[in-house]
Order: sequence, then structure tokens, then C-alpha cells
Amino acid sequence: MFQKLKKVLVIYVGGTIGMQKNDDGVYSPVANTFLHKVKYHSEMHDADLAKQYFPHLKENELVLPVDSKTMILTIYEIVEYVPLLDSSNMGCKEWIRIAKDIERYYESYDGFIILHGTDTLAFTASALSFMLEGLRKPVIVTGSQIPIFETRSDAKDNFLSSLILASYGRVPEVCVFFASKLYRGNRVTKMSSDELEAFGSPNYNTLADVGIDVKCRYTFLD
Ligand code: ASP
Repeated sequence: MFQKLKKVLVIYVGGTIGMQKNDDGVYSPVANTFLHKVKYHSEMHDADLAKQYFPHLKENELVLPVDSKTMILTIYEIVEYVPLLDSSNMGCKEWIRIAKDIERYYESYDGFIILHGTDTLAFTASALSFMLEGLRKPVIVTGSQIPIFETRSDAKDNFLSSLILASYGRVPEVCVFFASKLYRGNRVTKMSSDELEAFGSPNYNTLADVGIDVKCRYTFLD
């Protein structure tokens, strides 16, 4: 059924990815909804598999359907920051908090995902890349231009691909994943506020490109 079992910690900091429209039709963060909504999407949580093989999962642990290319089964745990933070709230204090959380849980997970607002995502990724020295596991910062709860959204793709890449473990550094591309965390910049391909890395190659296959330019670990 699966050949490898991986564990990923998802730190949901905030940003558009988990926002919902309020009564004025404006997107805003809503606490305690992301996990529950994600749980009901079968491509993001295999409830049957969870029941059959992992009956003692915690409430915030989800099971990604087995990736048929790698035969990896990923259990991912979502922790949500209180309050949820917009990009404009992010600064040194918040970067230290994220870094400390990764340090605290480093041994228990194979990879880490930070769900973050797009406006300052590149700054957070860059700061983390200098704070987390000697990293041997992937830390992938991602978000989306459209919330995950909308029918047409880039969020599921960004989130699912990040989960797969974090489980893969081949690029053990701080990265940004967006619109099918994995970038080096300290080489990326936000290029567009209305296109789904929102980020670019003008002076450095992508680390991996996700198409029909995942093409990693660098393979440090198996
Ligand atoms: N205002 C949001 C932010 O936190 C926008 C986004 O996530 O794209 O950056």
C-alpha cells in the first residue's frame, strides 16, 4: 500500500490561503476553520486510510493519500497561530517564533511547511534561511493568491505539492514553493499581486520544477 511513512509539520501562520469572505465581501482570516475544511477534501485527507492504519491520530493530524510515484504516505499535523497573522504583522519576533517552533519539533518530523501571507513571504523565507543553520530537512514556505476554500484556487496545488516535496526530503533547506516551482528561500521575490505565478527568482535557478514529474535540480538526500 505504501513503502515509506513520513511526517510533516504544517505551521499555519496566516495569509490569504486560509481566508474567507466576511459579510462585507472582504477576505479575512477566520480562526479554527482551516484544519476542519481541509479534512473534508479527499485529495488532502484519506479518511479511510486514516481509519484503517492510524486509528489513534490526533485531531489535527491528517493523512495525505499515498503518492503513487514515490509510494510515500505522509501524515501531516497542522498547528495554527493564534491570532492568525497577516504579512503586515510579520517581523523579527514572528520569525524567531517560527524558527523556535521548528527547532522544538525538529526531531519529530521529516519536513516543515509554513503557510504564510504572500506579501512578506519572501522576507520570512530569507530570514529563516539564515536563522536555521545546518538544516538537514526541508522547510517550505508557501501560500496562495486565492483562498483554499474557493472553487478555483491555486492553494490546493501549492499546499499539496509542498507536502509532497517536504515528504520527499530531497532539498533540505528553506525553500519557497509557488505555482509549480520550488525556489531557494533567500533568492525569491514577489513579482505579481494578481497573477498565480506570483514569485520569481531572477538571479538563481529554481531548485525543483513540478510538472508531470518532479524535477529536482539538486539532490542532497535520498
Ligand atoms: N494580505 C495577505 C498577506 O498576508 C495577502 C496574501 O496572503 O497574499 O500577505
